[in-house]
Amino acid sequence: MDTAELLKPFKDNNKRITVLTGAGISAESGIPTFRGPEGYWTVGSREYRPEQMATHSMFTQNPWESWAWYLYRHTVCKKAEPNSGHRAIVQMEEIFKDRFRLVTQNVDGLHLRAGNSRERTFQIHGNLNYIRCSGECTPKLFDFPKEIADKEKDQPVTEEEKKLLTCPRCGSIARPHVLWFDECYNETWYKAESAMGWATSTDLLLVVGTAGATNLPMQIGGMVARNPEAVIVDINPGDNPFRQFAARHDRGIALDGPGGEFLPELLALWET
Ligand SMILES: [Zn+2]
Repeated sequence: MDTAELLKPFKDNNKRITVLTGAGISAESGIPTFRGPEGYWTVGSREYRPEQMATHSMFTQNPWESWAWYLYRHTVCKKAEPNSGHRAIVQMEEIFKDRFRLVTQNVDGLHLRAGNSRERTFQIHGNLNYIRCSGECTPKLFDFPKEIADKEKDQPVTEEEKKLLTCPRCGSIARPHVLWFDECYNETWYKAESAMGWATSTDLLLVVGTAGATNLPMQIGGMVARNPEAVIVDINPGDNPFRQFAARHDRGIALDGPGGEFLPELLALWET
């Protein structure tokens, strides 16, 4: 069956749809993956890789260096704008409503800024537009302080900003609302169980811009791939594990290229 034949019926049936996104869709808005040179950071006389910066252990040992790195990343994300791929996913939520969920690995918040609802979006790695208590006195998320100025690379955190990056409830230092490499998924902050639960019974999985380097998205892909009735679509420039899932599945579709190009095309199948 071709793409239209496989996808069009979802408009009128009552089946569940999951869109799973990764860094690729944000890269189309100009946000670097931070795994490249953009993510390197000097602390004292040592240069750290992003995998070392984005850790609880770095935050514990050098909290303000860690924050300086995140303030710079926050600035980069704030200056970026959602693209046609993000906008197509918003339209999909509008069409499918409660049959739709978005699972994103991106912490830039562009999906919510584009217009996806917080209720139907599982931000499984967090969102840089929120901070929370590092002492875990409350599960509540706080908005990123608007008073904090945009940052250049390697710009330190000021004393005024340090006061703003404090838990309003107990006075502990606040932390960015992101999942660090040396931390585990959980339900409270990352909705990991909700995301898995939804994916268990999803009938259509659209994977966009992710190389499948992280655990939970791979589990979701594997689970949908084992369901012979499900449809699995991989939109990525080049090969990746999701492409393999799609290639081996009778109802798999591989679209080689950017989400900004293919998502509006898929959306058009459901708009008519
Ligand atoms: Zn607190």
